[in-house]
Amino acid sequence: MKSTSLENSPENPVSLENFLLKQLFTDALPGEQSPSNYPHEVPDTLWSPVQPVPAVDPVLIAWSTEMADLLGIDIEQNPRKSAQIFTGTKTPQGSIPYAMRYGGHQFGNWAGQLGDGRAIALGEVTDLKQQNWTLQLKGAGPTPFSRQGDGFAVLRSSVREYLCSEAMHHLGIPTTRSLTLCLTGNKVERDIFYDGNIQTEAGAILCRAAHSFVRFGSFEIHAAYKEHDHLKNLANYIIKNNYSQLWPKDGKPTVDTYQRWFAELLERTANLMVQWQRVGFVHAVMNTDNMSILGQTIDYGPYGWLEEYDPKWTPSFIDQQGRRYCYENQPQIALWNLYRLANAVLPLFNDDTQPLRETLETYNDIYTDNWNNTSAAKIGIDQFDSNRGDNELLDKLWTTLQATRTDFTVFFRSLAKINLVEKPDTGSMFGTISDAFYEPDKITPETREQFTLWLDQWSQRVAISDDEQRQTLMNHINPKYVLRNYVAQMAIDAAEEGDYSVLEELAVVLKKPYDEQPGFEKYAGPRPDWATQRAGATMLTCSS
Ligand code: AMP
Ligand code: MG
Repeated sequence: MKSTSLENSPENPVSLENFLLKQLFTDALPGEQSPSNYPHEVPDTLWSPVQPVPAVDPVLIAWSTEMADLLGIDIEQNPRKSAQIFTGTKTPQGSIPYAMRYGGHQFGNWAGQLGDGRAIALGEVTDLKQQNWTLQLKGAGPTPFSRQGDGFAVLRSSVREYLCSEAMHHLGIPTTRSLTLCLTGNKVERDIFYDGNIQTEAGAILCRAAHSFVRFGSFEIHAAYKEHDHLKNLANYIIKNNYSQLWPKDGKPTVDTYQRWFAELLERTANLMVQWQRVGFVHAVMNTDNMSILGQTIDYGPYGWLEEYDPKWTPSFIDQQGRRYCYENQPQIALWNLYRLANAVLPLFNDDTQPLRETLETYNDIYTDNWNNTSAAKIGIDQFDSNRGDNELLDKLWTTLQATRTDFTVFFRSLAKINLVEKPDTGSMFGTISDAFYEPDKITPETREQFTLWLDQWSQRVAISDDEQRQTLMNHINPKYVLRNYVAQMAIDAAEEGDYSVLEELAVVLKKPYDEQPGFEKYAGPRPDWATQRAGATMLTCSS
């Protein structure tokens, strides 16, 4: 039985007819007076009301049943209606669609007002666990923050974000979530390589969900414009709603409250970086406007997953020169971004830098402690121990992996397969990890020697622990399935032909990234040759 009440419950998902949105953010914080969608500065506000552009022919092509169940929304019952709502073509009850104002540091420089240039929030919905989620449509048309952009999104980038947010969640990594993916029927023009070669692509809209879409840059904009009341009100809103354990009982936050909040965010951000490094995820555009105030992964653009282990790798076409946001830089870039946020929130500390400085100085220890334990666990050591030479063992591993082109994800799964109970010799251990090499025929005797030496030291270090337990530990921390760019491209290629079966299959496989899942190896292997030459399958631009 479908519920007709406005309250959602596990037994009775609310039908879309009765789907009710709240306006928590817009009720609590001041916005622009009247709706507009032409580019302009919006000083002295936190958001602007915006009307999404109606889709010509909205079609629902995918949705996350988990998120729909959690939110208690019945997406399936009426796919047509769902497509209308989640493309912004029909505004649901209670919704005052809005775009958020924020600024940011892009590639190291202050960029001024940015804001939701093509994301329009519908409002908040309370889930079955009484948690609030903001629903946001990405690609629903221009807003005051669109600058030179058109406010739309294409199918390929929407598929990438749709799949990756859910994949991240199932990897156990904090992230925004996906609810629905719809085609709009609109055509969108994109110059993918910024070379004047314009292509017409299918427009699409992802409806994504998060407990908050506020970014570091949301604070920076108010600091830059000296809007200190807005800064304080936004901080209070975030602490009260998203860090409620820190909100004082008397409702009067103090410098101590703000310091605890900053410390908690810093810890979450450091831990998020460990998680990204663990699975080889490269966000690729870690500007402060893409840093979540909740310490989760947000804004999936030209992201990628390490294939050959190369610490300097980034999938971003526009960052090939500077490599500011390459794999190995991510943890320190996050800290740099936290410094930008600290500068912005200084007025909350009466301009006393001491509490923020003290907190910022804890970052490297928090990161390093967690990373040491995590990287040790990746090679089957349950407790990192510097007295047993674990630092040296790990350092040697990172250099050894670069001796030949070695697939980061495959390597750790193969390492787990080595059965130490059988007391294998180094040659046999080397054979077991060889499927991680892109060019096994080209391995020189020196490279082989380097690997066997490391395997020998590694086997001595881990042999003291229980072998089966070690394999289990490793397979719980080293995923078999990650959304490699070529794998996402397989889903995109099919979807662009109107075939959503790959997308659907992948969404299921990526729910269990640590399981073997026989039969789905085609999504787990090192990058095949065809992908090396394909745009999107290795390198990406921000054009989306
Ligand atoms: P990103 O690098 O994707 O995080 O985007 C940086 C800024 O550009 C944000 O303010 C986005 O909203 C905006 N933006 C990106 N693509 C578009 C687009 N197609 N139309 C309007 N604004 C966009
Ligand atoms: Mg962004």
